Amino acid sequence: MAALLEVEGLIKRFGGFAAVDGVSFAIEEGTIHAVIGPNGAGKTTLFRLLTGLHAPSAGRIRLAGRDIAGLAPHRIACLGLAQSFQLTTIFPKLSVREQVEFALTAQSGLAWRMLAATPSLFTRRGVRAAAEVLLAEVGLSEAAERPAETLSHGDQRALDVALALATEPRLLLLDEPTAGMSSFETERMVAMIQRLARARNLTVLFSEHDMDVVFGISDRITVLHRGRVIAEGDAARVQADPEVAEVYLGSTA
Ligand code: ADP
Ligand code: MG
Repeated sequence: MAALLEVEGLIKRFGGFAAVDGVSFAIEEGTIHAVIGPNGAGKTTLFRLLTGLHAPSAGRIRLAGRDIAGLAPHRIACLGLAQSFQLTTIFPKLSVREQVEFALTAQSGLAWRMLAATPSLFTRRGVRAAAEVLLAEVGLSEAAERPAETLSHGDQRALDVALALATEPRLLLLDEPTAGMSSFETERMVAMIQRLARARNLTVLFSEHDMDVVFGISDRITVLHRGRVIAEGDAARVQADPEVAEVYLGSTA
């Protein structure tokens, strides 16, 4: 099976310092893939390279066989890679439904693609119907008319995911999706990620601190340390890796 995302020898230098230092890995379509590693390991920098927010210093990134390294973020989004960002605070007074409808219609770079795939998005009723579906998927149907700023932290992050899904990605990136969440909110977010991955055949790449979350839902895990991959495999393999144990013990000491 061909990988949906292939990363090869990826490097990002800031001055003389390599935050991402020769990273290679691949993600199979339809899987949930975690990137873990202590603070400063290079996870966020890696995500920014994938979404086009940073240009790589060297290396290759292929999405569905197509070279996307160094493309502008909106081009990469058009090709099917989206990251969930904390966007709901930009228009805090807009209702949850308005935010989602805005995301569905305001992506000018995606307009042609939507027209081809979903012509109904060019009607008012079509947008409303698409928003209903998205809100149901992330569990926010009941909260649809509330201003985004009145949502709990967990619900705001769920709304962020809905906004990312509005671009119809094949690959969804989540950088620490459960950061700052209560254990209840964490459980809900994890269940949502799993549900979305199954229902949409969505591929998910996420970074995460909570090891219960990582080992609970990941098909595959890549461990970063100082910008390099030190281990990769399923939960059992990564848990049994002595270098991983050392890095984690070292980082909490
Ligand atoms: P993580 O997300 O794993 O905690 P980051 O990717 O945020 O790690 O950071 C990796 C390293 O790169 C850190 O040492 C950080 O200070 C450094 N770094 C990140 N972004 C920049 C930048 N824009 N300029 C200089 N150094 C950076
Ligand atoms: Mg980070």
